[in-house]
Formats: sequence, C-alpha cells, structure tokens
Amino acid sequence: MSPSAMNQVPDHQPLFGKVALIGVGLIGSSLARALHRHGLAGEIVGHARTEEGCVRLLELELCDSAHSDPAEAVQDADLVILCVPVSANADLAEAMAPGLKRGAIVSDVGSVKQAVIRDVDPFLPEGVHFIPGHPIAGTEHSGPEAGFAELFENRYVILTPPPGADEEALEKLSRLWQACGSTVEVMDPAHHDKVLAITSHLPHLIAYTIVGTAANLEESERREVVKYSASGFRDFTRIAASDPIMWRDIFLNNREAVLEMLQRFSEDITALQRAIRWGEGETLESLFRHTREIRRGVVELGQAGTFDPREPEKASTAEPIRKED
Ligand code: NAP
Repeated sequence: MSPSAMNQVPDHQPLFGKVALIGVGLIGSSLARALHRHGLAGEIVGHARTEEGCVRLLELELCDSAHSDPAEAVQDADLVILCVPVSANADLAEAMAPGLKRGAIVSDVGSVKQAVIRDVDPFLPEGVHFIPGHPIAGTEHSGPEAGFAELFENRYVILTPPPGADEEALEKLSRLWQACGSTVEVMDPAHHDKVLAITSHLPHLIAYTIVGTAANLEESERREVVKYSASGFRDFTRIAASDPIMWRDIFLNNREAVLEMLQRFSEDITALQRAIRWGEGETLESLFRHTREIRRGVVELGQAGTFDPREPEKASTAEPIRKED
C-alpha cells in the first residue's frame, strides 16, 4: 500500500521511529490520530485483515502504509501495539513474531491483562520487550472512523510489565502515553483484572442484563421503557450498546475476577431486596448516602463527565459520551 500525506513532519525528534498498530479500530485509530497530532512517531504502519480494510486506513490517512500480513506490518517497527479484541491476540502474536526486530517494544490495549500475557508472551522472540497496557478510555463506538485524537486525554493508562521487564522500554512507553495526555499507572496484571472487574466489567454485565430484561418485557411495557428511558435506563442502553465481540472476549478472559465480583454483588442485592421487603428505610438511605459520596470522589478525581474537548463541558452527571471500558 502506498504512503499517505497525513504524517506531518514534527518539529522535534519523534519518540519512536516506526510504530505498527495491529488493528486500527476505535482504540488503534485514536492512537494513530494522537501519534500524528503530537508527532510521536516517524512512521505509522497499520494492519487490517483485508485489502479493503487496508485501503480504508489509507483513505482515512491514519497510517503511512497498511498491510494485511501482520509480519510485514511489524517489519523494522520500534513499537508494536496490538489493538484487537482480546481473543485475537494469540493468533496475531504468532503471525507477526517472524517480522519483529530485536529490541522492539510490543504492547497492547486489551481490557484484560493476565489473558493477554498468557496469549502473547510465548510467541515473542528473545530480545523483544513486552509491556502490556490498557487505556481506561473508550466509547461505545467501534471501527477506524470512530476514533479521535483526544480520547486518551486526562485518562489513566495502566501498564502491567511482567517481572524483569526492561525499565527503559517501560519508561519509553510511559512517555508515549503521557504525551497523548494520559496518566500512567503501573500495576500487577492480576490486580488490574480484579479492579477492572468491579469498575468496568461488572457494570457492563449489569447494563447488558437490564437492557436484556427490558427487551423481554411484554410489547406494551417495552414501548414505555423506550419512551421514558431518560429516567435512568438511557445510560444503561448506552453501555449495553458496546461492541459485542469485545465484551464477549472480556468476560471469557476475566472469568474468575468477574465471577468473584458478581458473587459479592448478588449478596449485596439480596440484602437490598430484604431491606425493601421489610421496609428498612434506614438501610436504604444509608447506602444511598454512601454511594453519593463515592460519586463525589469520582468527580473530584476528574473522572466524571465527558472529558471530551470536542464537546462543550456538560454537567458532570449528564449524558457522558466517553466511558471507561
Ligand atoms: P474495534 O473498534 O472493534 O477495533 C478492533 C479492530 O481489530 C478492528 O478494526 C479489526 O480491524 C481488528 N480485528 C477485529 N477482530 C480481529 C481478529 N479476529 N483478528 C484480527 N484483527 C481483528 O475495537 P476497539 O474498541 O478498538 O478495541 C480494541 C481493543 O481495545 C480490545 O482488546 C479492547 O478490549 C480494548 N479496549 C477497548 C476500549 C473501548 O472502550 N472500546 C477501551 C479500552 C481498551 P479489521 O477488521 O480492519 O481487521
């Protein structure tokens, strides 16, 4: 595929010479746009599975070149970032491995970390540095058209380097994310999966369940649900519109942590059920006061609202269009 004109010449030396993005959907294309904007890569190469997909990446001016062969895409790359659904990582790691150069950094953006390490690490050749990562940023939209350069601004990126990971590689990758506007945290992969199970995975499961329950109601009740959705249901429908493949993979690959959190949640909801049944208003009020405090904490940490510079600032509780995945 021929080069595009998009890659502007930065007024400083880019952090990385050649960056290969394996999978250029919402996250990959947002990263491509952010790398372009901040002049962080001398050259950006994309991988899409089909020729049409490659052409689309060039039309959107996301990459300088695009390849359907993963090993070709990573040839001579200094940094390779896997931006595909979690279940696709193993096959892609195997396919790209012969093209990786010694000293290259390989990372990813997957929403679970232990499974990615299990699937990718065995395929990486000696001398390649693997630093898995997860930007806590996203929207319910998918594909290369959906991305935008500001997606990672004021958001956290969690890096989960394996024991003995190359310090210099970790530092360089951290600098890349920081230059995209993110705050980088380093975390143990198992801890990441547990924290994300409660902050992200369980809320998505609840949203999928509520919207599914509503969909199973009688026709007349279902119509009322849509009509009066602004009373809370709307936010669940937004979350439940998230990509089915991505979320299937997350639940299948973070099974233990999600099941543990689901067990706790079931116990807590049973306790609430009892409080409602027995008219225990104090129990309800005290929980709701406590959860309101937690929301205040989220707002104070700057993790509520849209954070989207393309949108005028909205009230922190109103219709967020960006979400943590
Ligand atoms: P996306 O918009 O659907 O993009 C994924 C890209 O991967 C697609 O454009 C597709 O490109 C490629 N792909 C899909 N299935 C593939 C397969 N089986 N083999 C090879 N390539 C495949 O998804 P995304 O939202 O960017 O998510 C990508 C990763 O980021 C996931 O691991 C997800 O867990 C993580 N993540 C997502 C969010 C979020 O909110 N969306 C947030 C943080 C992290 P082609 O069809 O062109 O090949």
